[in-house]
Amino acid sequence: MNKTQLQVEAIHNGTVIDHIPAGQGIRILQLFGLAENRERITVGLNLPSKALGAKDIIKVENVRLSPAQANQLALFAPDATVNLIEDFEVVEKLQLHLPEKIKGVFACPNGNCISRREPVSSQFRVRAVSGQVHFRCCYCEKSFHQDFMAV
Ligand SMILES: [Zn+2]
Repeated sequence: MNKTQLQVEAIHNGTVIDHIPAGQGIRILQLFGLAENRERITVGLNLPSKALGAKDIIKVENVRLSPAQANQLALFAPDATVNLIEDFEVVEKLQLHLPEKIKGVFACPNGNCISRREPVSSQFRVRAVSGQVHFRCCYCEKSFHQDFMAV
């Protein structure tokens, strides 16, 4: 076990989400309502990472992230790793798949966008650029960084 792993204690059963870009950890907790259940959660923020410079890590006891949640997670942390833990061992690694398009999840941040005034579902093309996710609105063609997307 290396030093970085030792900075956050091991969990018995549950889910470890690692390699989250620094700053997205808190958002991900909110996205999945992880802080609202009563399970023990260990969060490491701004940990040193060779690949990312700094990273966040989340460990949740007794919660298994579903494949659908893993794909939602990809919208905020496309390079994150999700390990399911049983008895202190990794029993499964969930693969994250960034969808090409997302519909009806976020409203377009552009107040002048036609999708905000017409009864249509928002629709974005999704692209990952060096660990960050960009969304391009299919109606107004404007691009937005993940931080503009309110959950
Ligand atoms: Zn738009």
